[in-house]
Amino acid sequence: MSDYAPMDLDEEKTLVDWVESNYDSEVDSYDLRVDYSSEDELYEDNTRAREAHALRQAELHATFAKCKFDPKQRQSVLDRFNKKCTEGEPEGVVEGKCMLWNEDKGRDYYQIGVGPHGMIMAHRASYMIFWDVHLPPEIQARHMCNVPNCVNPAHLMIGDAQDNADDKVRSGRSLAGTRNPASNLTEEAVMDIFENEMTPKQCKAKYGVSRDTVREIRLGISYSSVTGAKPNKKRKRTEPEDLNPCDEEIAKKYVASRVKKEGEHWIWTKKFRDKGGYGLARFKGKGYLAHNFSCRVFSNGCKRIPEKMQVLHGCTRKDCVNPDHLSIGSPAQNAADRQRDGTAVIGTKHPNAKLENADILVIRRRAAAGETHAEIKKDYPVKLTAIGDIVARRTWAHIPEEVKPQ
Ligand SMILES: [Zn+2]
Ligand SMILES: [Zn+2]
Repeated sequence: MSDYAPMDLDEEKTLVDWVESNYDSEVDSYDLRVDYSSEDELYEDNTRAREAHALRQAELHATFAKCKFDPKQRQSVLDRFNKKCTEGEPEGVVEGKCMLWNEDKGRDYYQIGVGPHGMIMAHRASYMIFWDVHLPPEIQARHMCNVPNCVNPAHLMIGDAQDNADDKVRSGRSLAGTRNPASNLTEEAVMDIFENEMTPKQCKAKYGVSRDTVREIRLGISYSSVTGAKPNKKRKRTEPEDLNPCDEEIAKKYVASRVKKEGEHWIWTKKFRDKGGYGLARFKGKGYLAHNFSCRVFSNGCKRIPEKMQVLHGCTRKDCVNPDHLSIGSPAQNAADRQRDGTAVIGTKHPNAKLENADILVIRRRAAAGETHAEIKKDYPVKLTAIGDIVARRTWAHIPEEVKPQ
């Protein structure tokens, strides 16, 4: 409250003038360049990376399977194990000494080269060679001796990923979360980042972590064993609580510095968009839809948009955040507006549409002429229920009843 100084906003000026005069103001420090859309992307990136890794591993295992049946190659791998392994004491109850593979030591995994650029886990290679079996990547080789760099095939047992994870937890050598040697965060630090509202900058200053790590912790992608958070792909965006009214002026400046005037419209210039193509604003560490934010700040006394209500565009530009073009209304009104403006994602505009407008007319005519839906369906790449919906006008209702012959 105390640091709130009223703006010297000239009453005569319109909002657009005000935007012009405040363009490029000094509020850049509030732009944290983190928003929901990039978090979604990050999550998808991680999924893609995991899938790519799994594919690559499958390839490498297949390559290795070929080499292990070639006696010369097989001997060379065996020699490497014999020459490079040192003897070790098992921690679990197993027969014989451990064979410790010491290459790559200091990492949390121990690998052996396959082909010119690939690596697979050394103990898996050992298991395949000795037992003459193919071990696809989804089958794990479990260490019964509890020594992760042991390649003694007699100390290995196959199981699924869950068995392996259970083994690790039981033996206390799970490398998840803060136990990972690459982790320089304590559990307290992870929880602090997860639970408390700090900007990525503040997290970095406090713990030396990157912006990405902060996001991953908060999304449950990393350190989920510590936070208990589960990554949720279908996380719904909820508009944050009411803004503090003393932030109103700085929030107005924030909007002003991020729009470009195009005629009457204030076009949102930041590149982050949500899935519907709407601009995203980030203010004091929280994410908003840009037009919602603008409407809140300029027209709604900083209060949040009431539940079950939406901010409607009076103009046809979805990236326009001019509060004069925005109003608060129900989803039904919004849908009606979209129909009116032709911005609704219906019919052939829908990315999943399999039919053309002309198909709809033909389908309805054929049904009217007495053909069964099953007969009609044979000619179109859609389900039977879709034909029923089209004929009953539950879908494609915007296509007029009849076209007059030209
Ligand atoms: Zn062993
Ligand atoms: Zn507009």
